[in-house]
Amino acid sequence: MKEKLQTLKGEAVKQIQEADIPEKLNDVRIRFLGKKGELTAVLKGMKDVAAEERPKVGQMVNETREAIEALLDEAKKKMDAVIRAEKLKTEVIDVTLPADRNSIGHRHPNTIALEEVERIFIGMGYEVVEGPDVEYDLYNFEKLNIPADHPAKDEQDTFYINKDIVLRTQTSPVQARVMEQGKLPIRMIAPGRVFRSDEVDATHSPSFHQIEGMVIDKNISFADLKGTLEIFAKELFGEDTKTKFRPHHFPFTEPSAEVDVTCFKCGGSGCRFCKGTGWIEILGCGMVHPHVLEMCGVDPEEYSGFAFGVGLERIALLKYEIDDMRLLFENDIRFLKQF
Ligand SMILES: [Zn+2]
Repeated sequence: MKEKLQTLKGEAVKQIQEADIPEKLNDVRIRFLGKKGELTAVLKGMKDVAAEERPKVGQMVNETREAIEALLDEAKKKMDAVIRAEKLKTEVIDVTLPADRNSIGHRHPNTIALEEVERIFIGMGYEVVEGPDVEYDLYNFEKLNIPADHPAKDEQDTFYINKDIVLRTQTSPVQARVMEQGKLPIRMIAPGRVFRSDEVDATHSPSFHQIEGMVIDKNISFADLKGTLEIFAKELFGEDTKTKFRPHHFPFTEPSAEVDVTCFKCGGSGCRFCKGTGWIEILGCGMVHPHVLEMCGVDPEEYSGFAFGVGLERIALLKYEIDDMRLLFENDIRFLKQF
């Protein structure tokens, strides 16, 4: 029996050494250690062994099995290492090859302009407030002194959701919402998207952005408004910029004005950019109408304030000398890359 086991082991060792691929090692494992393998056959022959010899023979069989298993494992490990080494050799990464360039996005010119305006007003102690794009007619018009039959309502080509709800035509309703909260004084700007039923052309779009500003406090006068907007214009267009206030009419402010700044291109002497006038119109403003204060729960006897509204696209177009508003919405990558 002992000899038989040794022959068996010798045969297994020989076959393991000859195996050159993992499949062959597996064959060896099945041939010797499998259910129908040779070692199992030896165990079946145990019934012919004398009873007192059986433990000894059993131990020998186990030792042979363990020896073959150890040899198989070792051979498998070696084979795997060789396969791995060869695989690494063929899968070499050439680190000198040029890598794909990651294209990193950047801010839209509208966003750059908005952040610039926000920076200026935050620097003067203003808070940035946002309001809903879909607004009640009440806030968009009524509370801003534009009753149902007011001609100003006709001027704004409004998108109606139903008779009481509109896509806001201006960011001014945010003023009414903030005043209603009753926390005074107020120093705020409200940037946001507005909507009008306009045809698309170089200066019009059904959707654009406004930045509304408002200050409500005791003893606020038109001088405060002028000083504030002068600083704003200088910060935005340069230290030498001058401002001009022209009387105008808005329903929610009294008195009202439109503001021009000296052309930053020619410094005021007149050029193609300012159509020879030396001035560029940038915004509308005025003292908040006492009736608006009243409707929004602010006592006009005690408080006064000013408001202004500027088109964000207008700022971006002027600042970056873009002559067509459509470029800001088309998102042509060749255009956007220039900022
Ligand atoms: Zn000019």
